Amino acid sequence: MGSSFSSLLLFRPFRLLRSFWTWLIWSFWSKKRTSPTKQYLNITSIPSINLAKPSPKLIILDLNGTLVYRKKTRKITLRPFLKEFIDYLLTDGNFLVMIWTTARPENAKIMVDLIFGNQREKLIAIWGRDKFGLSKREYERHTVPFKNLEIVWNDLNSQIANGNLSKYTLKSSSELTLDPTNTILIDDSRHKTKLQPFNAIHPREFDLKSSRNGDDSELKKIIEYLEVIKYQSNVAAYMKDNPFSVQEEMTEIDIH
Ligand SMILES: [Mg+2]
Repeated sequence: MGSSFSSLLLFRPFRLLRSFWTWLIWSFWSKKRTSPTKQYLNITSIPSINLAKPSPKLIILDLNGTLVYRKKTRKITLRPFLKEFIDYLLTDGNFLVMIWTTARPENAKIMVDLIFGNQREKLIAIWGRDKFGLSKREYERHTVPFKNLEIVWNDLNSQIANGNLSKYTLKSSSELTLDPTNTILIDDSRHKTKLQPFNAIHPREFDLKSSRNGDDSELKKIIEYLEVIKYQSNVAAYMKDNPFSVQEEMTEIDIH
């Protein structure tokens, strides 16, 4: 009796500690998904068909490293071909365009004003760091979150159903439901697009070096790519097989 009592005292705290860690790890992983869902992967397996006419697409734009290079000093350099790129997206008639950046809303506003000027009214949404569902601590601590497109689809599809997006840049938005087949996220970060990786276009990061070189043409190449994508019935399936850019290591090989 005495020995079992002492073993209880000795081992119970370790068992409790072990189950506490198991619970902690489990709750962390279940909350922070880090890979695509099976449902998403199933949709990306449906073959894409070449359409006779383009179908509406949602374009989600990142800002820093994609459209501009922004130093901490607030000096902002516009990427070459930015004006052509913006004009193309906002006048083609096949794209709904929104911004989603990890920058804070006040910084996002500065960049959007500079990039879009009066045309900012044609953007269906400008989302900043406040739209990731981050805790106050994560928000303050420069956590780099995933851009989970499910958050966008839930929000915008209810707006479409209520007729709130009909005045924007689409020729026709009737019967439109946003999902993996018609959404394109343009972001220099591969990390941020992990949850729906086949919906992303990854231009090379527009950084200090490329902003000084002045020979960057990624936005021009994206226009050419979108000219093909807009005729696809399932962009995720198409982009999975025909990505805009390959991983950096392979790009190095391509150059040589
Ligand atoms: Mg970026």
